[in-house]
Amino acid sequence: MRLLLQGGQVWTAGERAPFRADVLVEDQRIAAIWRDSKGTAADAHTDAHTDTQTRDCTGCTLIPGLVDGHSHLSFAEPANFADHGNIPPEEHVLITMRHARIVLEAGFTSVLSAGAAKPRLDVVIRNAINAGHIPGPRMLAASPELTNTGNLGDERMMHIYRESVGMIVDGELEMLKTCRLLIREGVDTLKLNVSGNHTVKGSRQDQTIMTDIELGTAARTAHAHGKRLAVHTRAADSILLALKHQADILYHLEFADARSLDALEQQKERIFVAPAFGLLHNTIFEAEAWGITRAKAEAAGMMQQFEGVLAVYPELKRRGVRVLVGGDYGFPWTPHGTNARDLEHFVKFFGYSPVEALTAATKTGAAAMLLAGQTGEIREGFLADIVAVEGDPTKDVRLLQDKKKLKMVMKDGRIHVPAA
Ligand SMILES: [Zn+2]
Repeated sequence: MRLLLQGGQVWTAGERAPFRADVLVEDQRIAAIWRDSKGTAADAHTDAHTDTQTRDCTGCTLIPGLVDGHSHLSFAEPANFADHGNIPPEEHVLITMRHARIVLEAGFTSVLSAGAAKPRLDVVIRNAINAGHIPGPRMLAASPELTNTGNLGDERMMHIYRESVGMIVDGELEMLKTCRLLIREGVDTLKLNVSGNHTVKGSRQDQTIMTDIELGTAARTAHAHGKRLAVHTRAADSILLALKHQADILYHLEFADARSLDALEQQKERIFVAPAFGLLHNTIFEAEAWGITRAKAEAAGMMQQFEGVLAVYPELKRRGVRVLVGGDYGFPWTPHGTNARDLEHFVKFFGYSPVEALTAATKTGAAAMLLAGQTGEIREGFLADIVAVEGDPTKDVRLLQDKKKLKMVMKDGRIHVPAA
C-alpha cells in the first residue's frame, strides 16, 4: 500500500522549522519526503505509480506521533485508588482497551506506562495492540505500583482488605519474588513508589519510604532480565537512592535539591525524567467539582509540589536532562485523551519553546520508548507514525488539544483518525 500525504508542511522533529513537503508512506514506513514547494516530485511519482493513493494535507502540519512518558491506560478515572480495586479484571481489560483507542485518537502513537492498575492489564493490552487485534498506541507495559505497607498504593485498613493500584511488598525476599513474578508475566517496566505522597497520611511526599535493599533488589532484578525500573520519587533522598541503583525513569522530582540535581545531571545520558504535571496542575486548579478545593489541595501540600516543579524543571532543562511529556492522565479531572495539554504546560511553566515541547513529546519520548531511530521523527525509513494538525503547532502547541484540528492520526502507516 502506498499513500502520498500531499500539500502540507512537515515538522520532522530533527529540524527546527517546518517546511513544505510531500510524504510518501509505503506499508508501515515513511518511504520518501519530497521537499519541493511545487509538489512536482510527488506528481512525477503519482504519474508513474497509478496505484498510489493520495491524501490532501493542505493547511496542515505533519508531525511525528506523540509519546506520553507517564501513562496509566488502566486508570479508570476514579476519584481514589481503592475504587480501582473494586473493578473486576474482565471489565478492567475492556476499560483499558477503550482508553488505548482514545489516547491513540488524541495523537499519541506511543505510551510509556508508569503503572498498571492490575498485574496483567498493561501486558494483555500491549500484546493485543502489537498483534493488531485492537487499536492503541505502541506501549511499554508496566507492573502495578510496587509499594510498601502504609505507602502510596496501600489502601488497606486494619479491619478491611482492599485492593488498589499497588502491590504491597516489604523486605528483600518479597520484592525479589514479586519482581520475578511480574517479569514472568511480561512487564517491560517495574514501577516502584519510593517516596510517599500527599495523599497518604503516614508516608509523606518528602519522605523516602522504600529501603535501600528493597529498591536495590528491584533494580538488580529488573536489569538482570533486561527490564527497566521507573520510580515515583518526590523527595530528594528518594532521587539519590534511585540513582544509586540505576533507576531508568524518574518521575516527579519536585523536592530535588542541589545535590540530587547534580546527581541527575551526572546520569543524564542514561535516564529520563517526567514531572507528571498535568495531574498536579488540574488537582490544584480544576478539581473543585470533585470536592478538591484549592484550600484542600494546599493543605495536602500540593502547592509545595507545584512550586517545586516550577523551580526544578527549568533547571533540569538547563542541565540537559531529558524530560518527557506525560501528565498522569486517567483521573476524573485529567481524563484520557486530554494528554496533549502537557505540551502547553511545558511552554507556559517550564520555559520550553513550542518546538522544544514538541521535541520532548516526540523524539525524546521515542528514545525513552527505546524506539530511537525507528519513530519519533519524520524520516525516510522510519515507522509511519504521523499526526496531521491543522495550522502550525510549532507556533502554538495548544492546537494539539483541539480534536477538530487533528485531521489525521497514523500509526504504522495505518490511519486511525479519521475513522474509516
Ligand atoms: Zn502516575
